Amino acid sequence: MDDTKTMQASDHAHYLHPFTDHKALGERGVRVMVRGEGIYLWDSEGKKILDGMSGLWCVNLGYGRHSISKAVFEQMETLPFYNSFFNTTNVPAVKLAEKLARIAPPGFEHVFFTGSGSEANDTNVRMVRRYWDLKGQPQRHTIISRFNAYHGSTMAGASLGGMEGMHAQGGLPIPGIVHIRQPNYLEAGRGMSEDEFGIEAASWLEEKILDVGPEKVAAFIGEPIQGAGGVVIPPSTYWPEIQRICDKYGILIIADEVITGFGRTGQMFASELFGIKPDLITFAKGVTSGYIPLGGVLVGERVAEVLIGQGGEFAHGFTYSGHPVACAAALESIRILEEEKIVQRVREDTGPYLAQRFATLSDHPLVGYANSCGFVAGLNLVRRKGPTIHGHEYFDPKLEVGMVCRGYMFNNGMIMRAVGDRMIIAPPLIMTRGQIDEMVALIRRCLDDTYADLKQRGWM
Ligand SMILES: *Cc1c(COP(=O)(O)O)cnc(C)c1O
Repeated sequence: MDDTKTMQASDHAHYLHPFTDHKALGERGVRVMVRGEGIYLWDSEGKKILDGMSGLWCVNLGYGRHSISKAVFEQMETLPFYNSFFNTTNVPAVKLAEKLARIAPPGFEHVFFTGSGSEANDTNVRMVRRYWDLKGQPQRHTIISRFNAYHGSTMAGASLGGMEGMHAQGGLPIPGIVHIRQPNYLEAGRGMSEDEFGIEAASWLEEKILDVGPEKVAAFIGEPIQGAGGVVIPPSTYWPEIQRICDKYGILIIADEVITGFGRTGQMFASELFGIKPDLITFAKGVTSGYIPLGGVLVGERVAEVLIGQGGEFAHGFTYSGHPVACAAALESIRILEEEKIVQRVREDTGPYLAQRFATLSDHPLVGYANSCGFVAGLNLVRRKGPTIHGHEYFDPKLEVGMVCRGYMFNNGMIMRAVGDRMIIAPPLIMTRGQIDEMVALIRRCLDDTYADLKQRGWM
């Protein structure tokens, strides 16, 4: 019997979830998702839910794409697996590598495949160190990242990330990884214009480079827009200044585009939007629209020339690097992205429309700051609004007001994620204008419910 209660009991008895307090989840009872179609999900109780998070930033093309399942099925029937270790390759992996080189920013002709974004960032750590070894500068070992960044959950991924809660468990970060502050205007930009703050935040990188010693720094890694950290959209001055500083010291740039890649910002890659000329690009999630796990690193010519040109084995790889079934899913996902002109639509039509509709939420008494970029957006819940965005009064974090709001989202059939008291969305890129209206109306209803609840509790 697959009824909800049985599933919940079995889930609690055997299934340890990612980033979850298992004990608390057992008491609460897990939600069982059973079906998806387009931008909607259904749970085991038959409740229909609008998926404002594209699964987990990945189901960009929506659920129920028959042509992806067909491509996967056919590849499974033809050749479900073969490795790429022993002087062998497979057709989908070759085709996908070529396709990625074609849609990547100029100067990216090579790709290294992994099974996930975390593995791709582990690959980055090893690849940049290999690069500097081959260049005869093995002392260039340190990678600079940012606090509140998310780069995955493996040892290197979590170390590159800047999540305090993750570093507190398991002796992280590993040696050779250091962090600077994030370009969060709301948090640290008081008294400055956004543009001034962007330059200021980038200067923290130069300070750190000088602190570590420029001859010891291998690379800087950053998400063009921080996703899991709460949709932190940097000022437009930030990335060009980061680029200038990295160029000045000859430091490699890794753009972690696991969320921003494949159209989320209205460009195929957000590096193009922000004026970043990365040497390596991390991808995963949207590459297969989440239908099958796949990740990888796009390798720019500066690194490829040395890695390939100097010869010798790069002693790194995964059983599932270039998995034919995953590559087949990616090929079909990219084909859909192009055929339906989805990236263009996000850039020219639905992205600007979402920005405009989402901004209307700013008039709600709970909303202190709402912003977006393409198909990612976030809003901050505030106790009392101030005259400027730096004058708001916030709730005590211990009250977990974001979680209260998230509860109303679920109840009203809407998935929106809470990062502290910032509520964020990253909806499927296929959303129509009508569906954007529907989503924004749902969010407003949830904000009203939250507001009434907080009033009743005497929290505002
Ligand atoms: C999700 C994510 C990762 C990790 O990807 P996994 O497939 O979960 O390992 C890395 N970087 C960013 C920016 C992400 O959002």
